[in-house]
Amino acid sequence: MTTATLPYQSLTYLENFGHSLRAASYLYKPTGIEEINGIFKFAKRNNLTVALRGAGRSYNDAALNSGGIVMDLTGMNKILAWNPETGLITAEPGVTLEKLWKTVLPDGWWPPVVSGTMTTTLGGCLGMNIHGKNNFKLGPIGEQVVEFTALLTTGAQVTCSPTHNGDLFHSLISGMGMLGVFTSISLQMKKVYSGMLKIHAFNVPGLDSHLDAIADCAPENSYTVGWLDSTASGKGLGRGQIHAAQYIQEGEDPHPAKTFQVAHQTLPGTLFGIFPKSIIHYFMLPFMINPGVRLINSAKYFAGMRESHYLQSHAAFHFLLDYVPNWEKAYGNGGLIQYQSFVPKETAKDAWQELLTLSHKRGLPAFLGVTKRHRPDKFLLSHAVDGFSLALDFKITSGSRPRMHAMLQEFDKIITDAGGRFYFAKNSETSPETASKFLGEETIARFKTLKRRTDPDNILESDLYRRVFGNL
Ligand SMILES: Cc1cc2nc3c(=O)[nH]c(=O)nc-3n(C[C@H](O)[C@H](O)[C@H](O)COP(=O)(O)OP(=O)(O)OC[C@H]3O[C@@H](n4cnc5c(N)ncnc54)[C@H](O)[C@@H]3O)c2cc1C
Repeated sequence: MTTATLPYQSLTYLENFGHSLRAASYLYKPTGIEEINGIFKFAKRNNLTVALRGAGRSYNDAALNSGGIVMDLTGMNKILAWNPETGLITAEPGVTLEKLWKTVLPDGWWPPVVSGTMTTTLGGCLGMNIHGKNNFKLGPIGEQVVEFTALLTTGAQVTCSPTHNGDLFHSLISGMGMLGVFTSISLQMKKVYSGMLKIHAFNVPGLDSHLDAIADCAPENSYTVGWLDSTASGKGLGRGQIHAAQYIQEGEDPHPAKTFQVAHQTLPGTLFGIFPKSIIHYFMLPFMINPGVRLINSAKYFAGMRESHYLQSHAAFHFLLDYVPNWEKAYGNGGLIQYQSFVPKETAKDAWQELLTLSHKRGLPAFLGVTKRHRPDKFLLSHAVDGFSLALDFKITSGSRPRMHAMLQEFDKIITDAGGRFYFAKNSETSPETASKFLGEETIARFKTLKRRTDPDNILESDLYRRVFGNL
């Protein structure tokens, strides 16, 4: 594609993952570096901005660009090199986590850091620097990257590793696609000795025991995650269920070649052997109101009263939500948003007690709560802390949107006062003031300096960038 002939295509409406935000953009899907360069030149000549998009699984406006260009990188989806001896893989940015694990697991390796869905792309995962259920042990995905190449809007190509162009390495990863486009990514995979994990599941009756359990499980386990019943109040506030998982050691699995098989990882395509998975979200729809969710959460809590130990495949443990395709559509026409806060271990309990109580008081309880243990990292726009995260999913309706917005501003104050941080892949309400408070002036100044260096014409912009950093 030459820049002279690049046509405007029709405006396309794109949405965030939760279908609660929409933006019309000119959508382009390049398949190589020359085309990406052509789009940048075209944008500059026509005074347009460009947002990068992977699978569009961010919960907010990170991959939306109202009135501008959206560059969808899912067409660049080739595995460029895979070495089953060393576990080093090099791939284009549009390769999904699904393609990644399906490539490496048959050889006895697993991606060390994955998100709760396998539909995300490597470019999107680095853009946000995703964390897994083992963040407390391995840090974010950026710490598993050996090297990447990126194309800047100036046409320059840069190769970065932790020791070469380290400032760009630590800022493009976590940089929300605002500093350059990842074009090739080399990652170290983790050796595993079975396709299964050992799971320990048990209930916790309140917020104190919930946080204690996650903290205690973390050192002893490979992964730890909590489900929090966000509708429970009183003594049951913060109750939930912990799932801790451990790798199986060498020699423990008598048939690793079998459990490594992709077919061994997947769950059945039907519910009760009858209903296709693709229609399950229609069954969920009538329950997605406050009393319905309260009922389901209570049933889930009481069903988990008996502590259990069992084996589960890597894919089923990490990507359980993917087995109900389009589950987010069960939230109805207004969609959903997620509010994820990261709070130091010393202040987490009080801060979340306030958040949960406030959401009940406002009549806007979250429908799903998920907790994790974290540790800090060195990436510029890091969301991690030495503490915990709580992700809360909220249903949006036309009637509740303004009240939700007001409540989430109150949440932001509680979390920043507690020394907490936020994640740019999730929250859709973070204001510039909140971002300044948790990132600090120095970090924002460094980010702006790097932006001027890598993207001097300010071509890379998204709705998220304008919302949070536009006037900073
Ligand atoms: C069900 C579900 C579960 C999730 N679980 C987790 C979790 O456990 N942990 C976690 O950390 N996150 C989680 N997420 C969030 C998700 O992992 C991130 O939002 C991730 O960035 C989405 O990847 P994507 O390919 O969809 O990227 P998009 O959402 O399309 O884009 C994300 C960002 O990356 C930038 N980008 C995309 N491609 C490139 C590129 N080639 N070069 C530079 N920048 C680029 C975009 O501009 C944007 O800023 C979850 C999301 C869902 C829907």
